Amino acid sequence: MTPRGAGSPGALAVRLAHRIEAGGPLSVADWMAACLGDREHGYYVTRDPLGAAGDFTTAPEISQTFGELLGLWCVHAWTAMGAPAPVRLVELGPGRGTLMKDALRAARGAPGFLAAASVHLVETSPVLRRRQAETLAGATTGAPTGAAPAWHGRLEDVPDGPVLVLANEFFDALPVHQLVRVPGGWAERVVALDPAGAGAPRFRFALAPAPDPLAARVPPLLRGAPAGSLFETSPACEAVAREIGRRIARNDGAALIVDYGHAPSGLGETLQAVRAHRPAPVLDAPGEADLTAHVDFQVLAEAARSAGAEAFGPGTQGDVLVRLGIRERLQALLARADARQAADLVSGVRRLIADEEMGKLFKVLALTRPGRGAPAGFAP
Ligand code: SAH
Repeated sequence: MTPRGAGSPGALAVRLAHRIEAGGPLSVADWMAACLGDREHGYYVTRDPLGAAGDFTTAPEISQTFGELLGLWCVHAWTAMGAPAPVRLVELGPGRGTLMKDALRAARGAPGFLAAASVHLVETSPVLRRRQAETLAGATTGAPTGAAPAWHGRLEDVPDGPVLVLANEFFDALPVHQLVRVPGGWAERVVALDPAGAGAPRFRFALAPAPDPLAARVPPLLRGAPAGSLFETSPACEAVAREIGRRIARNDGAALIVDYGHAPSGLGETLQAVRAHRPAPVLDAPGEADLTAHVDFQVLAEAARSAGAEAFGPGTQGDVLVRLGIRERLQALLARADARQAADLVSGVRRLIADEEMGKLFKVLALTRPGRGAPAGFAP
């Protein structure tokens, strides 16, 4: 793991300052994209941010049951599709590869699934690609040609064919624009240089006229919001959801999307920076903190529907995992655990499903081919 801030702390701040001097303030979406994905100094490009020693942790790192249940969900969806072979098992933003490893282990019990599945990881970070390769070494044995996973920069690059798509805490890392209600319409919140900063560059928020296509993204029901209201919108999230929907409609498939977020679309700022498990200022230390925004699940569902898929949910993570059998899986694991392992297993599952932990804030959206009925975890 690359130590936090290794390389050239402040280098991205200097480059962003030059960019703003030359071309004017950046949209919040461009700021977020640069901070997370800059090829040289982006947050994800330079480090593995997960785990206790990193900046944040995620469901698959908390409990093995998460990836196991998602793996079994895939087997169930694949069976409902008529068990096509080959089937592309795709994960968006796989982090350390833990979810996929647990999913493949759980799926081993299903005759034929691993033999039919080829694993595709959509990941931009070279550091995390290496980490995923280590985690998954040997995990795909049984897949066609015992194949190693294939890596891709974008979902569009995954070859065609029936797909099963998993995404946990992927969409929250995609850039959002922020729109602010002003007299007579909506303005875009942008990032400008703070002239007070001598020495290291400092940044501040400002307002700029919102381009028409962006302002049109505010849903009709929210257009009359009071002055000062803020609306976040992510064309990037919408484009990925549309591409998943398009693939499902054309080639058959199913997808499970898990993230923190809301439906219906609503007002309010959710963009946040996190560093060493604590909130941090969004404009300080670009490239050194994780930046995320809550996911608008209504937009994801509508984008996938408009491309020809059927959407179910979002349900809360707690409800969906309980319906998928997380309590029964926990009991089975406890039967083989020593006292210390048992305590970890119980607290991990609690974190995933308790209302006051991740159970309510996190939502799960399922996408399928129309007419198949509700997938596992989404029974009416
Ligand atoms: N799903 C993992 C990791 C979540 S962190 C888990 O649950 O632990 C977000 C992941 O998405 C990281 O792997 C990050 O490198 C990847 N990522 C972020 N932006 C991306 C993009 N635009 N394209 C592909 N992957 C991206």
